[in-house]
Amino acid sequence: MSRRKKAKVEYKEIEEKYDALEDDETPTSAEKQKPSPEKKLSAGASSSKSAKKEVKKEEIKKEEKKEPDPESELDDPVVRELFSGLEGAAFQSRMPFDKMTSTEAACFPDIAQSSLASVKVYLHVRNRILQMWLDNPKQQLLVEQCFEKIEPPYNSDVPLVTRVHAFLERNGFMNFGIFKRTKPLPAQKYGKVIVIGAGIAGLAAARQLQQFGMEVIVLEARDRVGGRIATFRKGNYIADLGAMVVTGLGGNPVTVLSKQIDMELHRIRQKCPLYQSSGVTVDKDKDEMVEREFNRLLEATSYLSHQLDFNYAGNKPVSLGQALEWVIKLQEKHVKEKQIQHLKSVIALQEKLKATHKLLVGVKEHMEETSARYKELGNTAKRNVELEFAYRSSLRDLNACAKEWDQLQEQAKEIEEKLKELESSPPRYKEKGESR
Ligand SMILES: Cc1cc2nc3c(=O)[nH]c(=O)nc-3n(C[C@H](O)[C@H](O)[C@H](O)COP(=O)(O)OP(=O)(O)OC[C@H]3O[C@@H](n4cnc5c(N)ncnc54)[C@H](O)[C@@H]3O)c2cc1C
Repeated sequence: MSRRKKAKVEYKEIEEKYDALEDDETPTSAEKQKPSPEKKLSAGASSSKSAKKEVKKEEIKKEEKKEPDPESELDDPVVRELFSGLEGAAFQSRMPFDKMTSTEAACFPDIAQSSLASVKVYLHVRNRILQMWLDNPKQQLLVEQCFEKIEPPYNSDVPLVTRVHAFLERNGFMNFGIFKRTKPLPAQKYGKVIVIGAGIAGLAAARQLQQFGMEVIVLEARDRVGGRIATFRKGNYIADLGAMVVTGLGGNPVTVLSKQIDMELHRIRQKCPLYQSSGVTVDKDKDEMVEREFNRLLEATSYLSHQLDFNYAGNKPVSLGQALEWVIKLQEKHVKEKQIQHLKSVIALQEKLKATHKLLVGVKEHMEETSARYKELGNTAKRNVELEFAYRSSLRDLNACAKEWDQLQEQAKEIEEKLKELESSPPRYKEKGESR
């Protein structure tokens, strides 16, 4: 079962459990089908609650009328469900909707060891804060807004809301990425940190550390930031030289980042043709062959690493690139050995054919001599006993030679066929479906 499908089933079960706890103030099922986060934000600006609901209803109607965009991942009903409601917020934040994680249990021992009702209240507050953040990740979510927006009675425990907010912020579940800061960075610095590398990991870490009150210096070896994420731009042409595919939107913080910078994501379809530099698509068979080879190489390196535990050479860790190169070289060596063996077999057959031809020549010469003798004796008018014996012996020899000739001819034909077969199938790299 795919992750998405599984999540959907789990959510249904969780929803039933959660219904027991939910009161009138929690979002209705209609609210759960809310439109995209940006749209909900405009609804959130409305002052009165009934007005808010009206706006939401209007938006839901508009959404229902809207033609589904086949290119948009968010128009997939399963994906939409993952993005909405408290369950969606927990899932998007990689947290179990109805359970405390071990980190939460360690940070909130008073709640983890308390009654089920306390845990449920905690979970509601946590999921609601996550939902608020994910609804508008372009703006810092302050604890004061949580007091305001969390529906009563869940907002009544001010210390709990404050602690949950701090926990989520400190652990990078909210207020991360590129968002508008409404509170300045802490003036007091708690320490200095040097981050090495301005790839996405280094930049994200630097930003978080800065937010936590650290003085941060980022050191980058290259003359640009981004690391393996690099976009090439020339005139109207834009191409990503590194990362460009978001593999799975559910629970992926890149989804939040893409919203924060208004970067539109496009669904990648199963059909993804390769183009040559001339603009012509690569031949299907060639494309499939290269893909097969690439996957086979990856499988081989994965086998080396996971099954044979070949991860170090000497005392140095082996990189994927190195392992791939070795696998290719080993494969080339293996093919070369097979080629040598193949050539040896070809040479052996050619030798055999040569010997057979030599025998044929001998038989032919013998046949010509015997035939001449037979003809000569045949033309002798009167043959005495001795000549008659020689005449009949030469006929017998002639027959034996003809038989031998036929056998040798058959043998030569067989060898030639074998040679042809061998020469037409030189050793190659492994074919589709062949085992390692
Ligand atoms: C061709 C390609 C395609 C990819 N496609 C995808 C994709 O479609 N989707 C996806 O999710 N991922 C993809 N990836 C992987 C993705 O790009 C990386 O996982 C991600 O960018 C790693 O980020 P990072 O910050 O951890 O490391 P990096 O981006 O490698 O950043 C490390 C930075 O540290 C710097 N650095 C290293 N050592 C030092 C030093 N000693 N001193 C100073 N600076 C140093 C480097 O110059 C670099 O800028 C792709 C990668 C490549 C190469």
